[in-house]
Amino acid sequence: MNYIDGKTYWKSKTQIKNTYPYLTYDTYCDVLIIGGGITGAITAYFLAKEGVNVIIAEKNIVRYGSTLASTAFLDYEASNDILKLEKTVGKTSASKIYKLCDDAINKIEEISVVINSSDSLKRQDMIYYTNKLFQKSYIKKECEKRRELGIDTDYIDYHKFVNLNGGIIAKDKTIVLNPYEFTQKLIRYLYDLPNVRIYENTNIVDVNPGAIDGVEAKTNNDFLILASNVIFSSGFETLKYMDKTPVELYRNFTIVSGKKDELKNLDHKFVAKDMQEPCHYIRFTDTGRVICSGEDVKLTDKFNDTKYLNNVAKDKYKKLYSYIQKTLPMSQNLSVDYAFNSIIADTKDNLPIIDEMPGMPNCFCNLGFGVNGILYSAIGGNILKDAIKGFYTKDMNLFKIIR
Ligand SMILES: Cc1cc2nc3c(=O)[nH]c(=O)nc-3n(C[C@H](O)[C@H](O)[C@H](O)COP(=O)(O)OP(=O)(O)OC[C@H]3O[C@@H](n4cnc5c(N)ncnc54)[C@H](O)[C@@H]3O)c2cc1C
Repeated sequence: MNYIDGKTYWKSKTQIKNTYPYLTYDTYCDVLIIGGGITGAITAYFLAKEGVNVIIAEKNIVRYGSTLASTAFLDYEASNDILKLEKTVGKTSASKIYKLCDDAINKIEEISVVINSSDSLKRQDMIYYTNKLFQKSYIKKECEKRRELGIDTDYIDYHKFVNLNGGIIAKDKTIVLNPYEFTQKLIRYLYDLPNVRIYENTNIVDVNPGAIDGVEAKTNNDFLILASNVIFSSGFETLKYMDKTPVELYRNFTIVSGKKDELKNLDHKFVAKDMQEPCHYIRFTDTGRVICSGEDVKLTDKFNDTKYLNNVAKDKYKKLYSYIQKTLPMSQNLSVDYAFNSIIADTKDNLPIIDEMPGMPNCFCNLGFGVNGILYSAIGGNILKDAIKGFYTKDMNLFKIIR
């Protein structure tokens, strides 16, 4: 089953097209990162900065996984209301998770400056809203809760551009980026470092943690990489190494509209996220397009049938289109220039998995599942740079496989 189906947007917008060699010899390194999407790249960045000798092995082409389909806004809300998060993980942990998300946004911003990608990365307001009257009092309470935690938010019951009944606006609390360009530039930056090697078309087909000197990984061409540690950043494909995980797979749908000047010139750009299920979120591009994602459906074998997938996708794209029209009154008569869908994995609590691999000593995983995956990968990279040295921070307990 393909990761992505349909006509994607980010690739068409980005001219850089670097390629990397595939592995043609046996070798060794401190840390082997499996997967060359945005998570692998961000994880490698944290390690490389510490002077660790890193290899990224990507079975296909770097940045061509779900990274290519991402809506790519970074959500300080950890994809969870604080009121709900407090119930599932407790007050202290909930507040810690919000803090980690905030820090991760700053870290990604710092990386974008280092790799010269800051032009395509913008700070924007985050609007979390409902247009259901009965949810108004809940969202007010949620806003108060966030303010108690020191998060600078305001309750709104009107917005100039978004059709809402109640919402929480957080000024400059999110960033939007071009995930394809960001990953390309980051991988290129890493490639030029003396302690990082990148291999494309290098499928890791076997991982043996029982080797005498570390973990032995075998490629599809039978070459061996001996690593002191391995970090899996291979998305949902990592699940085959785990017996029980609280993870579900979905297909997520996205449309990208044609350009419209009014959308380019909004007073201040924002991301809008509806609290209603199935989840919908809207962001804008610098060229005046609307990107609208959501309408997730559980992934089943039926999606192997192209006809079935096309029928579902057609219906979902239509729903997203009418959602935009209903939510953004100034977006009437837009065309749809791109429409695509992708596999997305998510945990029950919408939090990432950053942990040791069960039964695999010296192997870890950085799995930024859910719609906040990019941000989570920075939390994971930061935690794992310490874990591979044997320093386990308390933060790691928040994101264990079984929790
Ligand atoms: C539609 C959609 C919208 C999203 N919106 C947002 C958003 O707004 N904000 C946000 O923060 N996140 C969002 N996400 C999530 C975010 O895009 C993902 O978390 C992120 O792109 C995942 O990156 P990754 O590197 O983990 O995975 P991928 O990009 O899928 O990369 C994993 C890579 O591992 C490689 N691989 C797998 N197995 C092997 C192997 N054995 N050997 C070598 N390589 C291997 C694959 O080929 C792949 O390239 C969204 C995701 C989707 C699908």
